[in-house]
Amino acid sequence: MAREYLKSLELFEDSLYLPPTVKKTRRKHVLPGSLEPLPKNLETFERSILNCANCPLGKSREHIVFGDGSPKARIVFVGEAPGAEEDKQGKPFVGAAGKLLNKLLEDVGFVREQDVYICNVLKCRPPGNRDPLPSEVETCSPYLMTQLSLINPDIIVCLGRHAAHALLGVDSAMKDLRGRVLPWQGMQVLVTYHPAYYLRNMGNVHFGEEDFRLLRTLYDGLA
Ligand code: URA
Repeated sequence: MAREYLKSLELFEDSLYLPPTVKKTRRKHVLPGSLEPLPKNLETFERSILNCANCPLGKSREHIVFGDGSPKARIVFVGEAPGAEEDKQGKPFVGAAGKLLNKLLEDVGFVREQDVYICNVLKCRPPGNRDPLPSEVETCSPYLMTQLSLINPDIIVCLGRHAAHALLGVDSAMKDLRGRVLPWQGMQVLVTYHPAYYLRNMGNVHFGEEDFRLLRTLYDGLA
């Protein structure tokens, strides 16, 4: 359990929750804001942006962190931006928050490499892990939209407010978004706290456990 994992890091406490039932939907189309023409596949797309210098982060990054996981995944996780470890390795969610994300996935029976795809709103690390700037989100968002068009998942999980705001175009508080399943472009978007939030607020990891159980229910209900 994620809570035991956090306990082992000396971070935590507990609580309970029942997920609501939701309807499944699936519709394939190219999302507005995607690159045109749409790249052939994720691999060619990744290769084509490895030297991106569309914003100043192109100068400070070590690696582009494109994304990771199955290109056929029915679930895509969208985080905020790479951190120091991700920038070093060129892979998303490989630091402390990533380890907790792996645990939350495992707890509901998902295998990260097979069952999900993970990426971020920004593909490059903001210096000092500062929040993404609106201009950076705007510049990078065609990359996210293109990834989502190519993968065409049924479910998108927004990890934290930056992902939710960038994807849904809202600026609601996380307390109003978290644990909710929102219809978006024919897909289901589940908003949950960023795993880094639980590393800072261990007593609230039950929200994450609840949301991941809800994710499992949504996934099991897909056609
Ligand atoms: N936090 C994020 O939002 N993304 C990562 O890839 C790692 C940490």
